[in-house]
Amino acid sequence: MRSAIVVGGGYAGLAAADALARAGVDVRVLEARDRVGGRVWSVPFAGATVEFGAEFVLPDYPVMRSLADRLGLGLVRKGTRYGYRKPAGGWPAGIEDVSRAMESVRSLPPIGVGLRKSLARLGLPDAVSEAIIARVEISCTYPAEDLDDAVLAESAGSFGQFDSWTLAGGNARLASVLADGLGSAVHCGAAVRRVRWSDDSVAVEASGGVSETAEALVLAVPASVTRSIEFDPPLPAWKLGALDAVRYGAAAKLFVPLRSPAPPSAVLSVPERYWCYTQLDADGQPLPVLGVFAGTPAALGALEVNRGPERWLRSVGALRPDLDLELDPAEVVMYSWAEDPWVRGSYSAPSISSPMDTAALTARVGPIVFAGEHTAGAWHGLMEGALRSGLRAASEVVDRP
Ligand code: FAD
Repeated sequence: MRSAIVVGGGYAGLAAADALARAGVDVRVLEARDRVGGRVWSVPFAGATVEFGAEFVLPDYPVMRSLADRLGLGLVRKGTRYGYRKPAGGWPAGIEDVSRAMESVRSLPPIGVGLRKSLARLGLPDAVSEAIIARVEISCTYPAEDLDDAVLAESAGSFGQFDSWTLAGGNARLASVLADGLGSAVHCGAAVRRVRWSDDSVAVEASGGVSETAEALVLAVPASVTRSIEFDPPLPAWKLGALDAVRYGAAAKLFVPLRSPAPPSAVLSVPERYWCYTQLDADGQPLPVLGVFAGTPAALGALEVNRGPERWLRSVGALRPDLDLELDPAEVVMYSWAEDPWVRGSYSAPSISSPMDTAALTARVGPIVFAGEHTAGAWHGLMEGALRSGLRAASEVVDRP
């Protein structure tokens, strides 16, 4: 294969484009936003860099770590115990009780029911089981009632006292360094509207009068926005069905300045379905910022995120009296992914009523191959999954006879 177009300049699309370029394929990337990175978006704030999107690099991210290493990007230890969040806010479960219960959850076989019913088999105290459900709902950003209980055993692996990291200068550095390497092949502000394809060619039209042709196409946009692209001929029904079936949660993030920096901490509001954390900077010193992450559409609704940060700030102030918070709404930053036009949600969720069919999501259609976190199987919803999906898509293009 000599030429390819990549639609979407997030981690998946850029990993694919980089691998294709390195394999000698003439590649172009079309990205709708005016920046690369997609759901990875690092923003300067309070003298630091905060992550509006993906933030935590966890211990088991081999692909991301080795790519960062190749690109000369260092990792900063956050000191935040991502998997060890103190439950608070009205449900009196102790963190040790929750951690012990998660040990039993690890060996709980999934039975294809919702989270609550599945967890009931362990006969845990209500407060412990509610703290676990809150933690899993927040991480999946999706309601427990429709979460596949297989997620419990998966989530058990993300409970614990392990450390967490981000890339030095922000996770978006990985996207911008990959894009820099591709040079003028990356075109931002080009929202793809139409893809005409035959067995061995694609012709793409995007906003701003951009049009490109190539022998193959990597579609690396979220499933939730694929329908806004017209395919001619249309994608087959089995592919559209698999894409439509992907369910997305809702997430928002809030960053609040601290008048005096505080050491790493992690506290989870059980009733309001958000968690908040302090962390270290690149020099190992406490950062003067509190990060806050809310997940599930109900949580965003109750926190009135669509009206601004005021309601959420009041709640955070009550949850963290231990911190010297600057609670003036004019001094904070907030971003809700539920309204983001290029995702319309957070990330793919393992729904029971509408399961993800990874085989159908990844299967090629003529010259079109599919990437993005939602195609990454067990790695879905993660930066690691997005990168893996991009590499898989690139090898499908290169290996096509
Ligand atoms: P995207 O990043 O969404 O990239 C797709 C790109 O396609 C976007 O840039 C979009 O603008 C573009 N696009 C869409 N439509 C078109 C079109 N028609 N034409 C051209 N371009 C188009 N992961 C972790 O590992 N750790 C975390 O701590 C973590 N936290 C998260 C917190 C939040 C709030 C969110 C939202 C995500 C988080 N994630 C986390 C998940 C991680 O961000 C994603 O899994 C990953 O970034 C997805 O990459 P992607 O390339 O598949 O999709």
